Amino acid sequence: MNNNLTIALAGNPNSGKTTLFNAITGAHHKVGNYPGVTVEKREGIRVRGDKQYRFIDLPGIYSLTAYSIDEVVARDFILDEKPDIIVDVLDSTNLERNLYLCLQFQELGIPVIGALNMSDEAEAKGIIVDEKNLSLSLGLPLVKTIGPKGIGIDALLDAIDATVSAPSDSHSIHYGDEIESRLAILQKSIAADTAFSAKYPARWLAVKLLEKDANAYERLKEHSGAPQIEAAAREAVTWLDKHYGKDSEIIVTEQRYGYIRGAVRESIKIVKHADFSVTEAVDKVIMNRFLSLPIFILVLWSVFQLTFLLGEYPMAWLETFFGFLSDTILNTMSDSLIRSLLVDGIIGGVGGVLSFVPLIVILFFLLSILEDVGYMSRAAFATDKLLHAFGLHGQSIFPMMLGFGCSVPAIMASRTLKSPRDRIITILITPFMSCGAKLPVHVLLAAAFFPNHAASMVMVLYAVGVVLSLCCAFVLKKTVLKGDPTPFVMELPPYRAPTPQGILWHVWEKTWLYVKKAGTIILASAILIWAITSFPAYEPAPGAAEESVVNAEAALEHSYAGQLGHFIVPVFRPMGFEWKLAAASVTGFAAKEVIVSTLGILYRVGTEEDEESEGLRDAIRQDPDMNPLAAFVFMLFTLIIPPCFAALATIKAEIGWKWLGFEVLFLLVLGWTLCTIVYQLGSLFGLGVLL
Ligand code: GDP
Ligand code: MG
Repeated sequence: MNNNLTIALAGNPNSGKTTLFNAITGAHHKVGNYPGVTVEKREGIRVRGDKQYRFIDLPGIYSLTAYSIDEVVARDFILDEKPDIIVDVLDSTNLERNLYLCLQFQELGIPVIGALNMSDEAEAKGIIVDEKNLSLSLGLPLVKTIGPKGIGIDALLDAIDATVSAPSDSHSIHYGDEIESRLAILQKSIAADTAFSAKYPARWLAVKLLEKDANAYERLKEHSGAPQIEAAAREAVTWLDKHYGKDSEIIVTEQRYGYIRGAVRESIKIVKHADFSVTEAVDKVIMNRFLSLPIFILVLWSVFQLTFLLGEYPMAWLETFFGFLSDTILNTMSDSLIRSLLVDGIIGGVGGVLSFVPLIVILFFLLSILEDVGYMSRAAFATDKLLHAFGLHGQSIFPMMLGFGCSVPAIMASRTLKSPRDRIITILITPFMSCGAKLPVHVLLAAAFFPNHAASMVMVLYAVGVVLSLCCAFVLKKTVLKGDPTPFVMELPPYRAPTPQGILWHVWEKTWLYVKKAGTIILASAILIWAITSFPAYEPAPGAAEESVVNAEAALEHSYAGQLGHFIVPVFRPMGFEWKLAAASVTGFAAKEVIVSTLGILYRVGTEEDEESEGLRDAIRQDPDMNPLAAFVFMLFTLIIPPCFAALATIKAEIGWKWLGFEVLFLLVLGWTLCTIVYQLGSLFGLGVLL
């Protein structure tokens, strides 16, 4: 008998694997990483009598069809390193879902032992598990455990010994005659290549082929008869799809759940709930089929209202502070290039951005509370159906909502998405969520050209962004990111009171990215824009107009920025932009915040004039080149064109150059086309004058 056993502890996330692992191995373990990825790998030794057991704590997974990085790591470990035994750690309070993975382990042909963990919690909830009966119907040994108390560890080790000395025939589920007859054919041809079938269990691979598991097809390539088997598998898949009118992947999933329900019905009794559960009571309302979506919309709306309501005051304080700072510099320093750089460039550019920090902080604060309380998982459920219509998942809702604050943390938040395809789509559409940096542009132009409906106008732009993001998700899913939906189980954690440390950490983490951007990219662009609007220096011809206003304007047109604006304006004219808007669009590529400061600099009517937005608003409104239609189209353009450099860098880091290039091109083409259409149609109907 083998006295050196490798045992994998596997199971769903939070089922108690690590707790059991620590209880079994005590201090004798080491922590490292799986090769090539940042997933933690825990390995420990337990010695008992003359036997040595090597335990591996695998990452938590829901299925062996691997989508997320954790699932890939766990699957590859089990398939490639072939542990002697798998101990499936099951959460006894949620057996039906936990057993789904267990069935897949059984198909691997490796002996499986089930640890019925959390048995104390199950009992407290009035869930009575008849483990003998369940063990018989599932065909695997089961042991009740309580991780934190170390209860059941010895019994578990006994079960491991028993399994090693007397391995029973592997037991696996019967998928129904039609599926089984197809599986039998595939299994037989897979088993024909003995070298291959020594590596991969034939039955498991046959099932995976029917599930259309890409990795299984990849592994099949090593088989001598791969092309024939693949053809047979594809044919079986098509047959199942047609016969059941459903995806074969879904049929297999349904069969598994049906089997589990049957097994569980016999062996699990739920006696009357011992205690009243707040979570369940609240979810009766919040998760109600008809109420969940309206409640979500109400929550989102309240978050926005509260953000703007509370944000108004600190924003005003910051504006006053930066105004005071500029005034002080203007009054104490003599007119010089340095003074102009400080006041017009740095304070005008960075100060304007920092004034919006309170809004972002408050928005992130409110979203973090929702996240920590457990509402965001409910929001994912509430929006799942709606998002499905556009080819997305409810899981995408959190990154999208963060996008209203800042795209950078939003793009990073999409890491939690299981399927790479959904993750790419979510990242690509996040920039449509009008972020905190686009807000000043929208507020400025809405106030200037739609003074009576400014707030509604800004809301319209938010709505346009959401609609565009959904439509683009739909189109992407139908074209470049085609593929079947990824089935997955969403978790509904119990509601908990958020902890102050947790909230502070979340807010800080997300806000820091925004502030860092103000200190780097925006500072650099503010200085650059100041430079290209101030140089080359303009010398008015002797005898030219004395008025400083006229001189300032001429100087601007003469500057590099003016020249640039004039040079590129033909591209922008179809959208109704003249050179100032064209120049602002270009500088806005670095960061949207820069648009307002560029406009501030372009429309400055002499440095003596105060730089307050009231003045800027009037100046823009009085520009003969501007009209409400052009202003609206400009807001739309700002909404659609590629996000700031910081967001682009994040996209690159998350999904690579190829998708970054695609995104930039896609948004540019879409922005230009849509804005041209809106402007041309609008002009046709004379909206420019009427609005
Ligand atoms: P993992 O994600 O599977 O590694 O789960 P952990 O070992 O981190 O456990 C998740 C949580 O469940 C921790 O707070 C544990 O203390 C708790 N836990 C684990 N096993 C049990 C158990 O048998 N009973 C109870 N009541 N709690 C448990
Ligand atoms: Mg763990």
